[in-house]
Amino acid sequence: MSSVSPIQIPSRLPLLLTHEGVLLPGSTMRTSVDSARNLQLVRSRLLKGTSLQSTILGVIPNTPDPASDAQDLPPLHRIGTAALAVQVVGSNWPKPHYTLLITGLCRFQIVQVLKEKPYPVAEVEQLDRLEEFPNTCKTREELGELSEQFYKYAVQILDAVSLEERFKMTIPLLVRQIEGLKLLQKTRKHKQDDDKRVIAIRPIRRITHIPGALEDEDEDEDHDDIVMLEKKIRTSSMPEQAHKVCVKEIKRLKKMPQSMPEYALTRNYLELMVELPWNKSTTDRLDIRAARILLDNDHYAMEKLKKRVLEYLAVRQLKNNLKGPILCFVGPPGVGKTSVGRSVAKTLGREFHRIALGGVCDQSDIRGHRRTYVGSMPGRIINGLKTVGVNNPVFLLDEVDKLGKSLQGDPAAALLEVLDPEQNHNFTDHYLNVAFDLSQVLFIATANTTATIPPALLDRMEIIQVPGYTQEEKIEIAHRHLIPKQLEQHGLTPQQIQIPQVTTLDIITRYTREAGVRSLDRKFGAICRAVAVKVAEGQHKEAKLDHSDVAEGEGCKEHILEDAKPESINDTTDLALPPEMPILIDFHALKDILGPPMYEMEVSERLSQPGVAIGLAWTPLGGEIMFVEASRMDGEGQLTLTGQLGDVMKESAHLAISWLRSNAKKYHLTNASGSFDLLDNTDIHLHFPAGAVTKDGPSAGVTIVTCLASLFSGRLVRSDVAMTGEITLRGLVLPVGGIKDKVLAAHRAGLKQVIIPQRNEKDLEEIPGNVRQDLSFVTASCLDEVLNAAFDGGFIVKTRPGLLNSKL
Ligand code: ADP
Repeated sequence: MSSVSPIQIPSRLPLLLTHEGVLLPGSTMRTSVDSARNLQLVRSRLLKGTSLQSTILGVIPNTPDPASDAQDLPPLHRIGTAALAVQVVGSNWPKPHYTLLITGLCRFQIVQVLKEKPYPVAEVEQLDRLEEFPNTCKTREELGELSEQFYKYAVQILDAVSLEERFKMTIPLLVRQIEGLKLLQKTRKHKQDDDKRVIAIRPIRRITHIPGALEDEDEDEDHDDIVMLEKKIRTSSMPEQAHKVCVKEIKRLKKMPQSMPEYALTRNYLELMVELPWNKSTTDRLDIRAARILLDNDHYAMEKLKKRVLEYLAVRQLKNNLKGPILCFVGPPGVGKTSVGRSVAKTLGREFHRIALGGVCDQSDIRGHRRTYVGSMPGRIINGLKTVGVNNPVFLLDEVDKLGKSLQGDPAAALLEVLDPEQNHNFTDHYLNVAFDLSQVLFIATANTTATIPPALLDRMEIIQVPGYTQEEKIEIAHRHLIPKQLEQHGLTPQQIQIPQVTTLDIITRYTREAGVRSLDRKFGAICRAVAVKVAEGQHKEAKLDHSDVAEGEGCKEHILEDAKPESINDTTDLALPPEMPILIDFHALKDILGPPMYEMEVSERLSQPGVAIGLAWTPLGGEIMFVEASRMDGEGQLTLTGQLGDVMKESAHLAISWLRSNAKKYHLTNASGSFDLLDNTDIHLHFPAGAVTKDGPSAGVTIVTCLASLFSGRLVRSDVAMTGEITLRGLVLPVGGIKDKVLAAHRAGLKQVIIPQRNEKDLEEIPGNVRQDLSFVTASCLDEVLNAAFDGGFIVKTRPGLLNSKL
């Protein structure tokens, strides 16, 4: 045992606060320096000094307290270890960070902290002078490596200055360590025995098996899975090329250690390959008569669409192949496009799968990611096939008009390949990397508008327009389809809830404003939920009542009969008896469940001043009524337009003003000071409410003219008239699109008269009879006719209509 001379440490020590463990005398520790305080210490004491070894630091164990301010010096542990910094590694860039290698010399005790900033310095008293410390070094080093949970002990050992005390503290730790080791030995032996048994049963082990290495049961299971996978590949009916790839991949997989990231990747790939329906299909059954019945049963109205779908199916049946244009249903949301797609699948006896394309802007969404990427996966087409498990499903490509475009390639181009019958029997998904035959898949697309469908895609498709519904159609759809479906979903029966047609009409007109029936359907859902609660509560109370006095029960019932108005639908007080069945949903109940009506008929209110007119707009969500508002003020002839208008609409506004200015005298239109020069000292502001929605198109022309004519004449526009039409500078009215949707919107809004361009008269044929009955139509070829119809008693005072234009 060599002896070492006692170590004398300086009486002042810079303090290094470590939170990575406790440094004991004789042990060595790496500690990272990242706090500002320690960084300062390292910089000024270790990096500037002449010799690294010459600096002795006082190392104090410190548990970081997240709550304490990092600026303040935390309460310091009283005893620490004087240490030598053996090595400093690290850099100042991009962020100062160093690691110190320190060796503990001896204990010290803090007598007094002399300064706190920029790093603490303390006056210290040396506590031990261990001559023999190199011999005990190893043991202490091990103890120093005690993990965080032993931190407490380690600090106590640090604090134990007397040798005897220190032994007392370490012995329980050593005993514990010995016990732990014994246990480990035992488990290993057990495991080895088990392994031997397994090896005896299954002599062929994986090449990567290392006898004696720690293994768990997962690995065995994995092995079984691989054997299964191999078998599946062998028996799979995949085409030869795919089969070859799989055989190659499984060979690689068997050689790969499981820990390799590629292992999971390859395995997922193979699992997908064996799962794909390479050759599995359903048998088509198509009976056009049955198909017609099924379509009729599932869908009310939409005759045009149903007729076209049947034709399509009949042709497919006769030709016995699917080559030809892809059907694309175009119409507002909630008009049953998806639902018809589903019915087509049902009539053919095929699986149905919807692929949402809205917002897809990366071609790998369609065609998959190459397998070299981490997290790569197949595209939606292959995924869909895996989901349905057959190779001839009906795929509904939903919202093709909302495909995006990005740097990651054009998804529309990928989709073209999918839809092209000349190419799609050889569709190659990037992930799969072998061709899959899509020629048996029946694709149907849906869109809200054709305007944003990429032209090349549009070219492949046959567009079938699906217009919005009239109120009457909605009522029928609601009572034939929506309500029964909702009742079923909520476990309710017609004996429990009754929704009269007037209530449905109330929901349609006052709680929804849509071309389709989606919100309407949701409102029924909300009603059913409320009623389900009521019914369930009622059953609960009934059960309670059964045990109570019958006479008392009857008495209560009488009371309830008087009071059981449906407004108490949400009343859950215990006093109430089970509600009378069926629960009637009237307007009071509606208000209780759905809240106050969202759309009251505010049309007449809004038209109570001059300078407002109602236009009709077409949007991808269906037709809408649109108020146009105008006001004038003193100014210099400026026109202000607000409401997010496109260029075409702005031009319409300028046209309208020019036409009115040039005709001001004839119509007796004056500005505020009575001048026929309408813009003299006058500014005009035109606003198109729903400012957040971008609007464009020429069809607001007639409405702007009417609105301004009202402003400058001081007369009110009739509150039950809506209009649409493009205008020319000479006052002609030109035809516009979307007449059917627009007329339906006017009807929904409860208006009575619609002014349309004369050349759109033929479009009125498409309007359902009942709507045509409710509305009167004015077909106008020039603006005089529009104004005459829009104002009570006509607008033109002397001139006969028709003559005016020829004079202009
Ligand atoms: P879209 O695909 O056009 O947005 P959906 O097909 O999702 O609309 O239709 C929404 C809901 O309305 C579905 O529950 C659907 O069954 C129902 N629906 C729509 N139109 C009809 C109709 N004519 N007859 C019966 N139910 C309909």
